[in-house]
Amino acid sequence: MSDGKLGDQAFRNQSLHGRWPEMTYGGALSFLRRRYSRDLDGVDVAVTGIPYDGAVTFRPGARLGPRAIRAASVQLAELKAFPFGFDPFETLAVVDYGDCFIDPHHPETVVEAIAAHIDGIVAAGAIPLTLGGDHFATYPVLRVIARHHGPVALLHFDAHCDTWSDDGNRFDHGSMFLRAKNEGLIDVGRSCQVGIRTHNDSDHGFAVLTAPWVHAQGIDKTLAAIKARIGAGKVYVTFDIDCLDPAYAPGTGTPVPGGLTSACALELVRGLVGLDLVGADVMEVSPPFDVAEITALSAATIAHDLLCLMAMAKGAVPATPG
Ligand code: MN
Ligand code: MN
Repeated sequence: MSDGKLGDQAFRNQSLHGRWPEMTYGGALSFLRRRYSRDLDGVDVAVTGIPYDGAVTFRPGARLGPRAIRAASVQLAELKAFPFGFDPFETLAVVDYGDCFIDPHHPETVVEAIAAHIDGIVAAGAIPLTLGGDHFATYPVLRVIARHHGPVALLHFDAHCDTWSDDGNRFDHGSMFLRAKNEGLIDVGRSCQVGIRTHNDSDHGFAVLTAPWVHAQGIDKTLAAIKARIGAGKVYVTFDIDCLDPAYAPGTGTPVPGGLTSACALELVRGLVGLDLVGADVMEVSPPFDVAEITALSAATIAHDLLCLMAMAKGAVPATPG
């Protein structure tokens, strides 16, 4: 099985595909034990962290999110993916691209630093899968996505709509999607927000599937509504971990009771098969407020399952349980 290859794939594995045994409790950490690399030749997906939390409104700590999500991903790197029954890395070439370098002492440089970092991924033809970091970081990512793909649909999982108005200059993790709409970065008519349980006087043209609506309608109707809204065009998936109930994601900056269970959220993510994903992120994990890695484990699993969807788009076929 191992061919003598044991451990530390993060820097020893020269192949973009396959994997070998690791100690879950040891070894060099990377997301799902993928190799760290800035070489994107032949790479389908680049996983990268954005360790930034300068735009939060309540608790800080999301700058520590990427590190925690990588650490929580170790168990997912052991077995074939559940419930898919395949190893996504047989099909999909994935590297850990490391973290975007942020200079917190020059906050005016942050938006451009994130945009330049993500542009290096998208321009190379790879899909960015970003680990946050507070949710504001999705705004410069969307600027890059729009530059390369045009306005895409935004599928947005969150307790918060993040479309409250601002002056166009704020560093605010609660207003950037209205700004993205106003700047033409997203196709609002195909965009959808899921799990919302905060008030905004306007939906600003987004389809809003509130958390109570999802709970009342169930998984299948929610997925049908999402897919009907988004259609066949390109879509960016942004998952604010506070979409989950604080029971399932205590480690986040602005928790709101009444959210989705991790089971519900995973079923929704796994049901997105067939969408044309051009990028995705999992944001707002704040490890100082986490308990027993609950939040980081959920975030790692969501990111892992998004990778499995990308693997299926490239031809991976789920196994039939035998
Ligand atoms: Mn939120
Ligand atoms: Mn958010």
